[in-house]
Amino acid sequence: MSIEISQVNKNFGDFVALEGIDLSIPTGQLTALLGPSGGGKSTLLRIIAGLEDADSGRVEIEGVDATRLPAQKRNVGFVFQHYAAFKHMTVARNIAFGLEIRKRPKAEIAAKVDEMLELVHLGQFRDRLPSQLSGGQRQRMALARALAIEPTVLLLDEPFGALDAKVRKELRDWLRRLHDEVHVTTVFVTHDQEEALEVADSIVVINDGRIEQVGSPDELYDAPATDFVLSFLGPVT
Ligand code: ADP
Ligand code: MG
Repeated sequence: MSIEISQVNKNFGDFVALEGIDLSIPTGQLTALLGPSGGGKSTLLRIIAGLEDADSGRVEIEGVDATRLPAQKRNVGFVFQHYAAFKHMTVARNIAFGLEIRKRPKAEIAAKVDEMLELVHLGQFRDRLPSQLSGGQRQRMALARALAIEPTVLLLDEPFGALDAKVRKELRDWLRRLHDEVHVTTVFVTHDQEEALEVADSIVVINDGRIEQVGSPDELYDAPATDFVLSFLGPVT
């Protein structure tokens, strides 16, 4: 297992955001954290990332106890809904950024940037500024930047939420294809049932700070473990 979460609890004041989370995320799979807004998905993702500390419990990444490791030591790649690109930097430099702050050799950075531009089909846009890209192209740049550091895990929080339906569908297919190519362990947050069912190998349904069920899309449909899962996934059409 790539990510092992045990007995994670998180409160904000009196509010219980996560309660007794136990979760194993397998290496190389694309896992969706699915649930309604306010359920605790982003909080769990941020705890995996090291952007937030759990109140108690343990997070292990590839066999290493990461519970107290800061984000920059976890080798995780991120993509968020609103991607904060460096506006004054070209697409190529945005992709290179994570490698530059890690002081990788120049030749290695150049090679990696070329590889990533090709992977997300943005080669012809390498010298443009992010403002000259469409929303979908910007999120592809964000994917390239996250993958450039060769992360142990790739974490995405509603990465396509701000895009219109057609581009979302396109980006979903992109994510699936990229994942099949690089096989990086990926955890993907969404509140969109269809998105999770279409993209993920495995789905973790989260509601009210608790895990309702973990399973493949088929398993969730064939054997919903709780009334919540049944109603959240809705009738099979
Ligand atoms: P989701 O991503 O599933 O929509 P979140 O993990 O963002 O849910 O939030 C879960 C709950 O925790 C929400 O009710 C939210 O308001 C609350 N919450 C999240 N972060 C904070 C914070 N920093 N301070 C106070 N409450 C928070
Ligand atoms: Mg969220």
